[in-house]
Amino acid sequence: MRFDRSLLPFSRPEPLAEPEDMVRVDMPCYPEEPLKVDEEWEGEVGCLICGIRYPIELVRTLPEEEGGNAE
Ligand SMILES: [Zn+2]
Repeated sequence: MRFDRSLLPFSRPEPLAEPEDMVRVDMPCYPEEPLKVDEEWEGEVGCLICGIRYPIELVRTLPEEEGGNAE
């Protein structure tokens, strides 16, 4: 299978994969199952796997910590 650029006559900006006001939180117990929460959220977040709840300030991944890591 070949990627034919002629099928893409217009260059469009990539749609955002996620809203910019969401931040990732890594669960200490299951870091492979991060959550997305509103950056304004100030309560607790519950692990999807085991249900343990953590204060958001403990688990929030600040954008600065992801510098240059393009996925
Ligand atoms: Zn958990």
